[in-house]
Amino acid sequence: MLKVTSLTVKYGSIVALKNVSVHIKKGEFVALIGSNGAGKTTLLNAIYGLAVFEGDVVFKDKNLSNVASHKRIEMGLSLVPEGRRVFPNMTVLENLELGGFKKDKQFINRKIDEVVELFPVLKERFRQLAGMLSGGEQQMLAIARALISDPELLLMDEPSMGLAPMVIKEVYEKLSILKKNGLTIFLVEQNAMAALKYADRGYVLENGKIVLQGKSNELINDNEIKRAYLGKE
Ligand code: ATP
Repeated sequence: MLKVTSLTVKYGSIVALKNVSVHIKKGEFVALIGSNGAGKTTLLNAIYGLAVFEGDVVFKDKNLSNVASHKRIEMGLSLVPEGRRVFPNMTVLENLELGGFKKDKQFINRKIDEVVELFPVLKERFRQLAGMLSGGEQQMLAIARALISDPELLLMDEPSMGLAPMVIKEVYEKLSILKKNGLTIFLVEQNAMAALKYADRGYVLENGKIVLQGKSNELINDNEIKRAYLGKE
């Protein structure tokens, strides 16, 4: 579904990504882990059309090099950004409606009904300001909003950031349900344990380069990963 080949992103003299290649098959849940500043957000931004890059990003057999970000959404990409970025002074319902992008009202309403089945807490809070929600609820709202445009590939930037372990589990369990329902998911995380516990496969990004890749259970048992990312000897 997505094939990124030899991707390089530079910010002036800083090379944020060097020759990065990743692929995600339809229906897969893939995690890319890496520490602070490894280049995770930059990779998602390049895929989503928010960063200038060298190399190829091919989505559903179409090269995205000259495709604007809003066209990528129409093609079936959707991003849950780092730090959720809900609109705090708008209601939960208004935030969800914005996720519909250019779709018609009837479509948007149907999708909202659908997503709140997975996130019932949002339905209870339709009229509340998004800024009043807890961090976990805001993350659920950010995911739900990204689903309104009916994506085939959901991109997520650090869904566990700032959340308590119980809430992280809840968020990842929702993602597992979405995967079971056929959604393809690519997320980037510093929290390697949470991501690898739920993802099918993983990549490890260090200083802008992929240094390791494999099935999640293999990565969880890799001594180097245990030492560097899981806090175990
Ligand atoms: P974090 O977990 O902190 O978000 P990350 O793995 O997502 O980290 P990026 O945000 O992609 O990392 O940053 C990769 C590198 O590129 C870092 O060295 C960062 O300082 C640099 N960088 C990111 N955005 C810019 C920018 N707009 N201008 C200059 N340098 C940038």
